Amino acid sequence: MSIFYCKWCGTKKSSISGLTSSSCSKNPEGNRHALYEGSEKSQYFCKFCGSKHSSISNMVSSSCSKSPTNRHQPAL
Ligand SMILES: [Zn+2]
Ligand SMILES: [Zn+2]
Repeated sequence: MSIFYCKWCGTKKSSISGLTSSSCSKNPEGNRHALYEGSEKSQYFCKFCGSKHSSISNMVSSSCSKSPTNRHQPAL
């Protein structure tokens, strides 16, 4: 079974439709979860500042000084 992550908050769902149909409190561009299109990794790097995190949910809990939205975003 596949797991799909929200790139804004790290929420996990078993289907893309389940992910994108529920609301996200951290998406600066809308109010729904948005799919993280990269593969599952043991470590995630922010595409803006390069910082390393053990999970997407861990990454998005801190702010990013180099991101236009002030949030880290996982590189694919
Ligand atoms: Zn989300
Ligand atoms: Zn960052």
